[in-house]
Amino acid sequence: MAIWGSQTVATCTESPTVLHDDIGADRVMTDDIFDPTYCEKKGPKPTIKIVWRNVILMSLLHAGALYGLFLIPSSMFITLAWSMACFMASALGVTAGAHRLWSHRSYKAKLPLRIFLAVVNSMAFQNDIYEWARDHRAHHKYSETDADPHNAMRGFFFSHIGWLLMRKHPDVIEKGKKLDLSDLKADNVVMFQRRNYKLSILLMCFIIPTVVPWYFWGESLLVAFYVPCLLRYTVVLNATWLVNSAAHMYGNRPYDKNINPRENLGVAIGAIGEGFHNYHHTFPFDYSSSEFGVKYNITTAFIDLMCFLGLASDCKRVSKETIMARKMRTGDGSHRSG
Ligand SMILES: [Zn+2]
Ligand SMILES: [Zn+2]
Repeated sequence: MAIWGSQTVATCTESPTVLHDDIGADRVMTDDIFDPTYCEKKGPKPTIKIVWRNVILMSLLHAGALYGLFLIPSSMFITLAWSMACFMASALGVTAGAHRLWSHRSYKAKLPLRIFLAVVNSMAFQNDIYEWARDHRAHHKYSETDADPHNAMRGFFFSHIGWLLMRKHPDVIEKGKKLDLSDLKADNVVMFQRRNYKLSILLMCFIIPTVVPWYFWGESLLVAFYVPCLLRYTVVLNATWLVNSAAHMYGNRPYDKNINPRENLGVAIGAIGEGFHNYHHTFPFDYSSSEFGVKYNITTAFIDLMCFLGLASDCKRVSKETIMARKMRTGDGSHRSG
């Protein structure tokens, strides 16, 4: 789609824009760094094959979430608080877990924290951690090309939800297979969740959010199923997807004007700290996914708390000097005007 009009992205003929002097080299892998050598194949694009099963399931889910919205006034206050707690837990399972820990290795987590993050990641039901991290590394390494699973060059709808409703582009599969995933294979927590994924999502995403309000404080099963379960699940999904869609389209590019990911405060708030996306694609190894630490960034506050409790360590940050030098070199100048 031609939404992108005048915007440009780095092509395979340009030299790398990422300086390799500070890419978090002590991480287990660096396959989340943009690879400018990949070239999209010439000629017509492969035909789109829609996965009707996913279309039907996603439509039913969103219809259920809409019904859940109308049930909010008849929900008990404690059920709404429970829904919020489930939202926060499942969002952290994606942001602090699948994203910053497992996709980018931006900090280290001890076993109890990894177990917690895997459990709440199942509550978010966004494919298992292994698959999520593989797709996400491909998203960074081949950003906005045919090998990017949710290539934003294909428009808002495709990068938001459309990519989950159709078969992957062959290059996504081909390049995804070549990524270094050895660190994930070596992580027993990740592989245990993958082996038991169906059972874990049934329990964490559907049964527990529904049964707890019904059993412990007598909420009706109808409200318990539609509000903390379906509505909460759908909100977390869309908040995550907005990082792939809106944060690749709307906002400033103070760190690198040559790439499309943007700084989007609305997405940062909704996705508990993941909307500083121009920064994140420029410095994917930063545990804060932002220049500004805990500001509008609950995920960073959570990781900081885990460090304080001794459950996390080795948080990777980019120095102020490196950030400023990068802003001056490739930024769009918007940082000077705030
Ligand atoms: Zn992105
Ligand atoms: Zn990322």
